Amino acid sequence: MPVYKNLIAGEWVASSSGETFENHNPANGELLGHFPSATVEDTQRAIAAAAEAQKGWANTPPPARAAILDKASKIIDRRGDEFAKALTSEEGKTYAEARGEVNRARDIFNYAAGEGWRMGGQTLPSNIPGELLYTRREPLGVVALVTPWNFPVAIPAWKMAPALIYGNTVVFKPASLSPHIGLLLVEALVEAGIPAGVLNYITGSGRSVGNTLVGSKDVDGVSFTGSYSVGMGIYERAMKNLTRIQLEMGGKNPTVVLKDAPIAQAVALTVAGGFGVTGQACTATSRVIVEDSIADDFAAALTDAARNLRVGNGLEAGVQMGPAVDQSQLQTDLEYIAIAQSEGAKLLAGGSPAGNGGYFVQPTVFDGVDVSMRIAQEEVFGPVIGIIRARDFDDALEKANAIEFGLSATVVTNNLQRAFHFANGIDAGVVKINESSSGLALQAPFGGFKHSSANTFKEQGPAAIEFYTRTKTVYVGHG
Ligand code: NAP
Ligand code: MG
Repeated sequence: MPVYKNLIAGEWVASSSGETFENHNPANGELLGHFPSATVEDTQRAIAAAAEAQKGWANTPPPARAAILDKASKIIDRRGDEFAKALTSEEGKTYAEARGEVNRARDIFNYAAGEGWRMGGQTLPSNIPGELLYTRREPLGVVALVTPWNFPVAIPAWKMAPALIYGNTVVFKPASLSPHIGLLLVEALVEAGIPAGVLNYITGSGRSVGNTLVGSKDVDGVSFTGSYSVGMGIYERAMKNLTRIQLEMGGKNPTVVLKDAPIAQAVALTVAGGFGVTGQACTATSRVIVEDSIADDFAAALTDAARNLRVGNGLEAGVQMGPAVDQSQLQTDLEYIAIAQSEGAKLLAGGSPAGNGGYFVQPTVFDGVDVSMRIAQEEVFGPVIGIIRARDFDDALEKANAIEFGLSATVVTNNLQRAFHFANGIDAGVVKINESSSGLALQAPFGGFKHSSANTFKEQGPAAIEFYTRTKTVYVGHG
């Protein structure tokens, strides 16, 4: 059985306590390996290593940093099949989904490498004769990256790649449910030649590793993706040191289906958004808001589609939906299904565990969901979709906004005017027209509104430079 190590200051090391935790396959319970339960002291050593390496990395010309990221991208490509199998084995999503995510990580490093040739500041007009006025982008310093289990390679990649290209050093703490794919990503960077201390990888509980990272005076920025409750705690702790913070959190994302929508297309987009990656996406569709006049037809077609999805081990050919990530997430899914029933929602499809020796749950559809119900307000993070009926477009938009989250939202319609009214009127950081609520372009800014985000800095694409750099303004009097 493999016993994996952490990377601190360029050395692969066990926890100083000697303790480890187990990594399991949610599709069959198989034990996949042991990972270090890093201690507070181990975490402090990783922060110190990153601080020590920071000046040297910041002074490495960006094109030289880019060469390492470009090489890492090629290594991820070469090892793509191995990475995808590791991801499916520990997280559960299907091989096709995992392969897509690994390819995304590859492309993110490729994109970031290009940034190394582009980053620059501004030259401003001066109001004094004989003065040059300009800005320069500097790295923030040491950044802590705290990531969730559900996109365990894409999310670390979209934080790590910009952090590194802009000259920061990194302490990366993956989620304890999916530490292996994060380690493979770190291996790719080590093979590509990342200098010792520039990238540190440390596994262990949120309480010891996570709290230490977030509360450290020597950490200059914390980029967190995860749940609202953990994110709120991080915000409070980081604020005490005025640490720059970026939090991307939960969602309860609507697919709005207007009366002119082709039913088959609306169902396909709802299935992709709601049951893709087992509903375990922050941008997953968990509410479908449908105009009354087509709601019966839509509900019948969605019920058929849900019943026909093949649930199983994501490594098996033909499987369309994998398991919940662990026993506790399965329990949460089943609890919310029971809550929805007790609130009076009508179960149309699924609703039960799907057996097979893993944490499988059936794709589940409820009808008759009211916006005031918990099933319409709280993130389940599983393959559970609630249909909410709307009188007309205005009612649909109002219901779509009647929630504390605001991550992603989509509308299915060929009515141009309504599509734009939706895009302008919806309170969500990502808006789609005739596309699935999930799925992002790596070259575009990403982040939620309302309780889905700290609303400080966007991630990804051209926006990432704002979080990972600080701007210095220089006045040069040469008159
Ligand atoms: P989580 O429980 O909040 O954990 C996220 C990360 O925080 C993990 O690495 C976790 O470590 C760590 N952590 C836990 N307690 C901590 C503490 N006190 N201090 C510092 N770090 C701590 O979230 P999850 O269950 O992994 O992921 C699911 C959630 O992520 C959902 O709410 C989903 O919507 C959200 N998400 C949001 C986005 C987005 O971009 N908006 C994307 C994907 C997922 P351990 O694993 O060791 O507990
Ligand atoms: Mg968790």
